[in-house]
Amino acid sequence: MSDVHEIPERSGVAFRLNRGDRLVVIDPRGEQVADLLAFDAVDTDEVISSGRTLDYAETIRLTTGHKLYSNRSNVLLEIVEDDVGVHDFLLTPCSRDTFHHFYPDLPVHRGCFGNLAAALEPYGIVPDRIPVAFNCFMNVPVDGETGKLRVLPPVSKAGDRVVFAAHRDLIIGLTACSAPDSNGGTFKPIHYRIEAAS
Ligand SMILES: [Zn+2]
Repeated sequence: MSDVHEIPERSGVAFRLNRGDRLVVIDPRGEQVADLLAFDAVDTDEVISSGRTLDYAETIRLTTGHKLYSNRSNVLLEIVEDDVGVHDFLLTPCSRDTFHHFYPDLPVHRGCFGNLAAALEPYGIVPDRIPVAFNCFMNVPVDGETGKLRVLPPVSKAGDRVVFAAHRDLIIGLTACSAPDSNGGTFKPIHYRIEAAS
């Protein structure tokens, strides 16, 4: 069994994931979101694309069997296991601006966006290159009639996982989300594990 890494509450990491490896993202306590980004390891101008992915999937409810496409329509990741089935690929990473907008009475936090920017900087990826993240475990129901979005607590339970297979050599960014509403009002760690291709 490969090592489990912990992302402490309200923080983020970046690391390399090789083609064929599997990335296991675990919600260890339940009701905690993890924002996921994937960049091509050689050309970081190629990055996961919400628009491409939702277009080709023809649904916003992405789960086992769905592929996450890049801005150049190549598959970067594929969801190969999913205990939850409720994730979000519509909303941007929470940021200082998110706090100003939705939480004017709370202390400002740099959020997933700031955490991702800091973690990706050593890979030469600048903040303006950060797109919509695949938000593991984030619960964003959409009213089919009005289009109204809501952000509700995740339905993930302690120990639930979502597993991605890498179709390319990738740079991954991953957070334990910092926004109160996305995480049921409390901030918890995220665990991950890399299962290397044999
Ligand atoms: Zn966040």
